Amino acid sequence: MVAVKSAYTPTMECETEHFLMAQRQLDEIAREMGLDPELHERLRYPKRALIVSVPVRLDNGSVHSFTGYRVHHDVTLGPAKGGIRFHPEVNLGEVSGLAMLMTWKCALMNLPYGGAKGGIRCEPWNLSTGELERMTRRYTSEIINLIGPDKDIPAPDMYTNEQTMAWIMDTYSINVGHTVPSVVTGKPVSIGGSYGRHEATGRGVAYCTRRAVSRFGISASQPAVVVQGFGNVGAVTASLLHDSGYKVIAVSDVNGGLYNADGLDIPRLKAYQCEMGKLMGFSGGKSISNSELLELPCDVLIPAALGNQINAKNVSKIKARLIVEGANGPTSPEADQYLHEKGIIVVPDILANAGGVTVSYFEWVQGLMHLFWSEGEVNERLEQIMGKACDQVFDMSQKSGLRPRMAALRIGIGRLAEAKRLRGLYP
Ligand code: NAD
Repeated sequence: MVAVKSAYTPTMECETEHFLMAQRQLDEIAREMGLDPELHERLRYPKRALIVSVPVRLDNGSVHSFTGYRVHHDVTLGPAKGGIRFHPEVNLGEVSGLAMLMTWKCALMNLPYGGAKGGIRCEPWNLSTGELERMTRRYTSEIINLIGPDKDIPAPDMYTNEQTMAWIMDTYSINVGHTVPSVVTGKPVSIGGSYGRHEATGRGVAYCTRRAVSRFGISASQPAVVVQGFGNVGAVTASLLHDSGYKVIAVSDVNGGLYNADGLDIPRLKAYQCEMGKLMGFSGGKSISNSELLELPCDVLIPAALGNQINAKNVSKIKARLIVEGANGPTSPEADQYLHEKGIIVVPDILANAGGVTVSYFEWVQGLMHLFWSEGEVNERLEQIMGKACDQVFDMSQKSGLRPRMAALRIGIGRLAEAKRLRGLYP
């Protein structure tokens, strides 16, 4: 439903289902918080979107043109910040919806950034390292006028990593004539990355989980946890919760899950995954499917793989008491409403997985200062910021009766609206 009625209602090419879902979330909270309709309308679409053609010479000698995107949703609070993903489903709507979420996430965490997202539509698993490098460098040169340490700072996302960031940083630096580490975050430590960035998202998810468990009285002495996805976010979260005395009873990857009611030996499982490149075949748990895993009785369920995993089809079978969203958008809007009515608490993605962008902010600051922090300092500052944001969201949720997702959006959007109001409308 379109909440803002005006003589001119723009229609944009980005209005895919994914984007409209993000927009509906804004409309809902705007109504709830009585957001100024003019500010609301300004936030419903991206500020700017660039579509580029990325011609790449493939290893077989032919040239293929990929399509790339970079979208800035809002830059009121500072330069745009957001990841770059390589995936066949990348399109203008997906990137625009994710850029909007980045705006809310940065505002919620009180980081001086706006929201951005970018990507290239491709099948990265079918490209060689050389092809990936040429594609990344050409894409960087095509979007070069949009990015920069004061304008827009990309980071890794699905199927991009530290190496991708190193190529972007190098291409940008060569084009401007000097080394500019702060044009990206999530780069290797040896070229200006931050200690603790690799683990930051999982560390933040684990921190939010512990905070929510104590706040919402999930009082089991050894809470039982289920984690979907055992990649960067899921594996770090599982390890840290295991180290803090939680019982991680199930984890999974793209091929399926492992379950042990007495708790999986996570350090041994990580060593197994490192050696074998998979979870299947590990002797300390029995195999289950990813859908069975989501429906296990547990205290905490942590989806840390893909979007839309908890949806209208399976939500009635979810038996967790608390869900902490490690992935972006793992709960569909209908499922979210259903869980709220059932009294199952959902700690939303814009809070739970914000540890990554928070340490990206630290990396950017360290690069601009040319002064680098120890891992201990990074983790301590991360916990301070996550702790404050958790308290603000949980306090507002408990006082207002809003579910945590709406409370988080209300805080983030409220901050942004105040900044927009003070800056006014140019000219
Ligand atoms: P990753 O590629 O390191 O790991 C993803 C994991 O999910 C892998 O274990 C993979 O096998 C598993 N997986 C893939 N398809 C699956 C399926 N169909 N069912 C079950 N598991 C499946 O990615 P990541 O960096 O850990 O990101 C995971 C999620 O967290 C994504 O939604 C991402 O957008 C979000 N996120 C990541 C970061 C970050 O800093 N890495 C920050 C914020 C949000």
